[in-house]
Formats: sequence, structure tokens, C-alpha cells
Amino acid sequence: MPRPISATIYPAALQHNLNRSRAAAPEAKVWAVVKANAYGHGIGRVFEGLRSADGFALLDLDEAQALRALGWRGPILLLEGIFEPRDLELCSRLDLWHTVHCDEQIDWLAACKTHVAHRVFLKMNSGMNRLGFTPERYRSAWARLSALPQVDEISLMTHFSDADGGKGIAAQMACFAEATRDLPGERSLSNSAATLRHPDAVAASDWIRPGISLYGSAPDHPEHTAADWGLQPTMTLSSKIIATQAISSGSSVGYGSTFIADNPMRVGVVACGYADGYPRVAPTGTPVLVDGVRTRLIGRVSMDMVMVDLTHLPQAGMGSVVTLWGRAQNGVVLGIDEVARAAGTLGYELMCGLAQRVPVQVAD
Ligand SMILES: *Cc1c(COP(=O)(O)O)cnc(C)c1O
Repeated sequence: MPRPISATIYPAALQHNLNRSRAAAPEAKVWAVVKANAYGHGIGRVFEGLRSADGFALLDLDEAQALRALGWRGPILLLEGIFEPRDLELCSRLDLWHTVHCDEQIDWLAACKTHVAHRVFLKMNSGMNRLGFTPERYRSAWARLSALPQVDEISLMTHFSDADGGKGIAAQMACFAEATRDLPGERSLSNSAATLRHPDAVAASDWIRPGISLYGSAPDHPEHTAADWGLQPTMTLSSKIIATQAISSGSSVGYGSTFIADNPMRVGVVACGYADGYPRVAPTGTPVLVDGVRTRLIGRVSMDMVMVDLTHLPQAGMGSVVTLWGRAQNGVVLGIDEVARAAGTLGYELMCGLAQRVPVQVAD
């Protein structure tokens, strides 16, 4: 028998979460963001669940190629644009729309011999200071692009640094609105957090760009949970108990003896460790489900195993199903955000970090 760990992807939940974005932005078209191999889910595994999107947005050319190979004929947007001049050839061949965020990308377009003009999204750095032209330089970039025969329609986009938090988006919204006031073209502003939390950004978006919310994680956890937003988990990571230990008071568990029992305890050993993508830094107390009942992690996460507290779960033992995150067989959900928070990170990182060695199945 193979090691009992596996991940399960739920197409119906992906579809549900996509509909949730649509409900929040009924007038807008939706880029389903599938970068990082669909946030660790696998592009091929999410495609059916997300195919009612208006387009797919991603970064890697080979992921764009994979989408075309799956039969997707609609729009694909490269969120970081091209990385070198010869990528333009592939953009033409696969009909990829691409972000333009810097002068070099305009130079490359100007120098290319293309038969079909490129559809581009011109990116503004409205305050995040990652990618894009500053508001002062945005209009001249737009003018330069629009004079190129190699360029077809130009859309306008920016990205928020604080759509999920207290600082909010007002300053970036004002900056973008001011600098693009009389420019023609479609606009794209909202990521998941802005789509769910900021109707003003949605109203200004012809295209929204939800990512994390499609995958059933709240962009603003713990202020809101996925359930608060009506999102369903799209990935379950589960395994089984492969050994148990009965330990006495004062005994330690795991590397470094960081956990010491203050009472006699029953410990379950789970076939899941950091080499499977479970966060090594998850501390004692991190929630986990055994046979669909909540209990806690104890001791350090090791490469291939974690230990859990079975003291109050007398029925559980060898072969019991352990849900590290997602939905248990009895329907109980352990939110990936809750596990992430215990480990000091985000649902994004956990889903993206699912290890190659974990077999993945798609639910029907
Ligand atoms: C990743 C990304 C998104 C999606 O962000 P979420 O927070 O996952 O919704 C949207 N736009 C850009 C430019 C991105 O890089």
C-alpha cells in the first residue's frame, strides 16, 4: 500500500467560489488567477471548475501553453508580461495578452516583427512599488505604446497593496483614477480582497482578478473566515494514523522534546510532514481533525510525520483518517487559513507549497 497521504481537489467548490466572485462583481469580467500551478492545485485539475471564467491570468509561459493544450481558446493574461524579447513570438502563437510594466518591455515590442498586434495591459505602480509605471510616467508609456503598430488595444491596470487590511485602497484608487482619467481602455483593479471588500474598486473594474478566493481561502483572515465570505474549501490534505503511543506524565514527544505531557496521554503518529508541504513551524496546538473531530498537533513537525493528541478520542487509532486541512468525510471543515495562522503564514503559502510527492485526486 502506498503511504496513506493524499490531497483532494473539488471542482464543484472551485465553480462555487468563482460564482461568489461573479456575485460580488456582476458587471465585470473575471480573470481566474491560476498562477503558481493554480495556487498548488494543478492547472489541469482546476480547469473544469473554473472554465466559466472570462479568462485565465498567470505568469508562466508553460502554464499558458498547458491551458491552450487543455482546449482553452479564450483570453489568457500574463500578469508579469514577457521576460525576454523572444517571448513575444509565443504570445503571438498562443494568442496571449500580456502586461507591460516597464520600458524594456515596450522596447521589445517596438523591435519585434509581428503580424498580429498584441493586446496589452499597461500596469501602473499606484503605490505598491513592485511592478508598473509611476503615475508621472504612465501617460508617456501609454502614448508610446499606442503609437506602435505592434500594439492593439491597451487596457489599464494596477494592483493594491492593502485591499485586505486597515490601510485600504483609497489612496491607490485616487492615484489610478487621476492618472488614467481621460485614457480609453478597459480597467482591471480588483484582486480577491478588493472584490469582496471594496465595491468602489469593483465598480471601477471591467475585469476583476480573483485568485485566493477561488481556492476557498479568505483574503482577509482572521478578520473574516472563508465561511463568512461564503467560500468553500477546494483542497483537502488528508492522511492516516500509522502508529500510536501511550505516554506517561513527564514524557516528551518528537524532536527537541519541545512537548512534555503533563498527564498520561495517547499520541497518534500521522503520515504527513514538512516534506509533504505541511508547515514545519506549526506549533503544538495547531488544529487537526481525526475522524472528523478536532484535536491538536503536539511536538515538532518532522519531515515525514506529525504527532497528534488522541487522549480524548478513544475510538481513534491505527488507520484513522486525519485531515490536515480541508473537509473531513463527516463534512466537518478545518479551514486552511486556521492552520496557516497557527503556523504564522497564509492559506496562500500552504496551498502553493503542497509537495510533489503527495498524490492528488480530483473529486467528482
Ligand atoms: C496574484 C495576483 C492576483 C490575485 O490575488 P489574490 O490575492 O490571490 O486574489 C491579482 N492580480 C495580480 C497582479 C496578481 O499578481
